[in-house]
Amino acid sequence: MARFRDTESESRAVNALGQRIARLIEAQGPLSVAQFMTIALHDPQGGYYATRDPFGAPKNDKGGDFITAPEISQMFGELLGLWIVQCWHDQGKPLARLVELGPGRGTLMADALRAARLMPEFLSRVEVVMVEISPALTAIQKETLKDSGAAIRWTTQIEDALDGRAIFLLANEFFDALPIRQFVKTERGWCERMVVLDENGALTFALSPEPSALAIARSGAPLGGFYESAQASTALAEQIGGAIAQNGGAALIVDYGYGAEAGFGETLQAVGDHKFASVLETPGDVDLSAHVDFAALAEAAQSGGAVACGPVGQGELLEKLGIVARGERLIERNPSAMHDITRAVERLILPGGMGTLFKALAIVPPGSPKPPGF
Ligand code: SAH
Repeated sequence: MARFRDTESESRAVNALGQRIARLIEAQGPLSVAQFMTIALHDPQGGYYATRDPFGAPKNDKGGDFITAPEISQMFGELLGLWIVQCWHDQGKPLARLVELGPGRGTLMADALRAARLMPEFLSRVEVVMVEISPALTAIQKETLKDSGAAIRWTTQIEDALDGRAIFLLANEFFDALPIRQFVKTERGWCERMVVLDENGALTFALSPEPSALAIARSGAPLGGFYESAQASTALAEQIGGAIAQNGGAALIVDYGYGAEAGFGETLQAVGDHKFASVLETPGDVDLSAHVDFAALAEAAQSGGAVACGPVGQGELLEKLGIVARGERLIERNPSAMHDITRAVERLILPGGMGTLFKALAIVPPGSPKPPGF
């Protein structure tokens, strides 16, 4: 114990949460990457999402660490809202629940509900549920949506949102924030990558000495190759698939990640102030995320009993949903915004922007028509 206290001043863990994590490891042993991510993102005092509003462009007055599609343009939320309304219509306009996972600032939901007003019947048949773990972001969402006119409730637990009714669900950049475990192929087998303390008491990565007991079926992995297991994500996709298969509905999951082949690289990343940062040095001050394994999500949704469509590139989806025409309409109404609107469309759909790295996966009940854009 004393050894760590004496050297604490040399520690690279420069913030209070990093020091608390170091003491936890000292007391209880190494943390898995998933445990570390959960603390760094959600610790009530120092966790990244628990304590701040991370969204915004680098130079605008909001500051912010990164920017997401709904924050780039209202068109994103509008088109997703119309996607939902179309699926609801195609399934015979059931009594429904509109669920958003990880709604950030609430912008996507505000834009989606505004677009959904085109079909007032939808709003009268739907209860809106926001699944959000962060008190800071919940407060911002309540403010954003205070004039939406819809009946909205908040919960931290997805279980509170899935029973009894057809579920129409949106999740943008949510799954990338769920914890992953990492395993590295060694001569001993697949060893789990853990967060430990180095000789100075600073957080560092180390491989578990014993190979993992998990059966990891990734043939062809080179020595040093990574396997990232997103158990929290696949369990959730299976739950959503189960709810949709049972009660109807549709889910649209949009995120950055890989489609068919996951590869053997690692994708855990830290971002602060629009730049990549160290994963371990300042936990809670930077966002942590990992690429979403869409093939694994699709498989999980299908084992829940639903049908998965895609993934398709975000660019392809938004083009098929009519983003170009929508942009032209907005420019007609506000010609002075032409440059900004054109740039936003390009950013959302071009391969050099978010068009191909970001992908969309749809989940629908067996036998229902293909959703728009797929
Ligand atoms: N969808 C928003 C925000 C994406 S950031 C946008 O596109 O702008 C991730 C969001 O998921 C944040 O709102 C974060 O607080 C929330 N979140 C992360 N993990 C969560 C969890 N386990 N349960 C509920 N919400 C979570």
